[in-house]
This record gives sequence, C-alpha cells and structure tokens, in this order.
Amino acid sequence: MRIVLLGPPGAGKGTQAAKMVASLQVPHLSTGDMLRQAVREQSPAGKQADQYLSTGTLVPDVVVLRLVDERLSRPDCASGALFDGFPRTVTQALALDEMLAARGTQIDVTLELCVPDEVIVQRLAGRGREDDEPEVVAQRLLSYHRQTKPLSDYYRLQNKLVELNGVGSTSEVSQRIETTLMQLR
Ligand code: AMP
Repeated sequence: MRIVLLGPPGAGKGTQAAKMVASLQVPHLSTGDMLRQAVREQSPAGKQADQYLSTGTLVPDVVVLRLVDERLSRPDCASGALFDGFPRTVTQALALDEMLAARGTQIDVTLELCVPDEVIVQRLAGRGREDDEPEVVAQRLLSYHRQTKPLSDYYRLQNKLVELNGVGSTSEVSQRIETTLMQLR
C-alpha cells in the first residue's frame, strides 16, 4: 500500500506514521527526517536545506524530489510506503505521481489529519524541536496553508482523500486511522 499522510505541522503525522508502519510493514518516508539527517551530515542536500529548515520555509522541490526518488529506488519501497510530510506542494504531488507511475504503482489513499491552528500552536509550544520557536511555527503554518493545503483538493479530485479528526489523544487518533484503513482493505 502507498499512503500519504497530510496535515499541518504538529498534527501528529510523525507519531501516527511510526505506529502505522509497524502494522502495515512498509517503510516510513519522512522528508523532514531525511532533511534533518542530511543537515546533520552536512551532505550537499543538507547544505542546501539548512536555511529553509531553520526558517520554517519549504526546501526547494529539486532538493526534496531527488532525495525521495533515491529513497523510492531502494528495494524496501517495492512493498509500499508511508509518505509523511511529502508531498508538500502540488508540484511535488505531480512529481510523486510520475515517480510512482514510472515504477508501475500509484498512491492508494491520502489520510488528512485535520487539526485547527490554535491546537497546533499550543501543541508545538510544548514539543521543543529547534524549528518549534513561535516565529518559525508561524512561518510553517503559513507555508502549510499557502502551499500544502491545496493538496487536499488535488487528492479529493482523484477520490483518494480521507479526512480524519486529528484532535484527541494519540490512541484516539490512531484508532480513527485503524478504522479507516480496515474499511479500505
Ligand atoms: P517536518 O518534519 O515534516 O515538519 O518538516 C520540517 C521542515 O523540513 C519543514 O519546515 C521544511 O523546511 C522541510 N521539509 C520537510 N518536508 C518537506 C517537503 N516535502 N518539501 C519542502 N520542505 C520540506
């Protein structure tokens, strides 16, 4: 199965993704994790990405798409993948569709975790990651609404969007995801 997890920063995508990959047995493809690792290693991609991560703006598509394309070529992705934090723009979504089509596959479903901005700001204030400073959070939310939210329509038009309430405890949200995935199977 190939699943996209959509939702604002701090919606709980990373936490839910970790639980989901354990039961789905597919790799967890988090571009945020991949980019943070590239920055730590100071690889060429990491050097290009650094300033964007620290300001909460989106890393240019060329950098992200190259990382994802490489990752998709590894054998473990043959069984499927859970995309977390990617795609973030319609351009990336189109590119992902092409990358998958070239491998004879496609996205099966997109799960959107819906969480209001007020809840996000409160949640991220308590998380303590470097890009969780209030100004950076504001920028990340802005990037989300401007660049990522249009993806809901992109996947809805393909009949691939399932919207879920992302407010509640980790186990409540994870239960909603489980139920949805069971209905899809
Ligand atoms: P995340 O861990 O998904 O919240 O991502 C953290 C940061 O990494 C974002 O604020 C962006 O700067 C960058 N990033 C992660 N995924 C992407 C992506 N698909 N496209 C562009 N930038 C990204």
